Amino acid sequence: MMAAAFAPDPMRLMRAHVAVLTLIIGLGLAREAAAQARPESTGGWSASVSRPSRKERAARKPVAVTPRESGTLISSIALATDGEQTRLLLELSQKTEFTAFAVGNPYRIVVDLEDATFLPVIQDGQQATGLAKAFRFGLFAPGKARIVVDTIGPARVAETAFTPAMDGSGTGRLEIRIETTTAAAVAAADLATAANSIQIRPAPDAKADKPSDRKRPVIIIDPGHGGIDPGAEGQIGPEKNVVLAVGKQVDRALSAMGRYEVIMTRSTDVFIPLDERVRLSRKHQADLFVSIHADSLEQKNFAQKVRGATIYTLSERASDERSRALADKENASDLLAGLPISETVADTQVRDILVDLVMRETATLSSDFRSRLLTRLKPRMKLSKDPTKEAPFKVLRQPGSPSVLIELGYMSNAEDERLMAEAGWQRGVGDAIANAIDDYFRRRQRTAR
Ligand code: ZN
Repeated sequence: MMAAAFAPDPMRLMRAHVAVLTLIIGLGLAREAAAQARPESTGGWSASVSRPSRKERAARKPVAVTPRESGTLISSIALATDGEQTRLLLELSQKTEFTAFAVGNPYRIVVDLEDATFLPVIQDGQQATGLAKAFRFGLFAPGKARIVVDTIGPARVAETAFTPAMDGSGTGRLEIRIETTTAAAVAAADLATAANSIQIRPAPDAKADKPSDRKRPVIIIDPGHGGIDPGAEGQIGPEKNVVLAVGKQVDRALSAMGRYEVIMTRSTDVFIPLDERVRLSRKHQADLFVSIHADSLEQKNFAQKVRGATIYTLSERASDERSRALADKENASDLLAGLPISETVADTQVRDILVDLVMRETATLSSDFRSRLLTRLKPRMKLSKDPTKEAPFKVLRQPGSPSVLIELGYMSNAEDERLMAEAGWQRGVGDAIANAIDDYFRRRQRTAR
């Protein structure tokens, strides 16, 4: 059998145009960002946090303390009420650098700690206390720990203090005092944050540094959610764990074929913003982007009847109301993680200009891949009643790369959930997705010759 080279095609030429346009637009933004950014290499993905203005500094209340060599362990998170104020109490293994700030829409208080991790036994707080409705936590980027407190209305950080333990061990309690403020004050703070926003970008990895080997198609596998964003909750744990397990199985099966360059948007339990996933795909000029998720129904009376996998492709008009609601839910990932909404708007607008250029062809390729996926998945797993749908998923807005989003099943359904937790099922589904990817490219290479 003859080995087929992955020949350049019209799609790639158009992608090159998109890349040039993006570069021109990106250069201006990058120059601005570079002037302010303070890169901090954290390995894998790196986060660079811009230097806040004096006004913003006051609003965010950062406390700069040189962290020790080893990272900080957060051993307890608790909420308490104290008159008008609500206190967020963190037990730390040592004093560490942190930022605490308010975000609107919905109202939240976000606390980020540098070079910190959580003790595994800590659980999310669902109990409402004072101004707080609930809190959740997780890694926001490697080494950067984030705690998000949902508040009942507009709130601000009134005061922060670190109190060392009396025993001189270096451990201590970080206290964040939260109080009510006006909606206008939160909106103003949001704008300041957006103007001076946190920029997370992929660190240059070995694969990216090599001149791209275009003989092999680049496949991006995108396990949804991660870190502070758990996704749908099930009895077997959060969606983020199931989709990562299946994503790793696809990576294993596909890499073993030796014909593809496989890139995972995340291979650990870390939060990656939706835009960052798309940016990674664009950077590598991905030939295919596969996002993996698991759905969940809120309506308990349907939960045991509705099950099976659904494959979504992008459309600004959803197939039905339920698909639209699902896209809204998946698109809320960044909000859940405490990213201000304004942070992603500019990039979306830039992309929209380019979308029309190549979108139609990409859509054809996406649905071609989807039908191959359907064929391979059918014998391997239960499919939903209507297994191919369309919806406006943010992560699928990729003019240059065919993309699909797979909802593996319903975490709200007992049978689906039982299967999703099985290593054998995860492996089988991973194989099926990898085989579908292989089918798709083998056919494309045949038609290109
Ligand atoms: Zn999801």
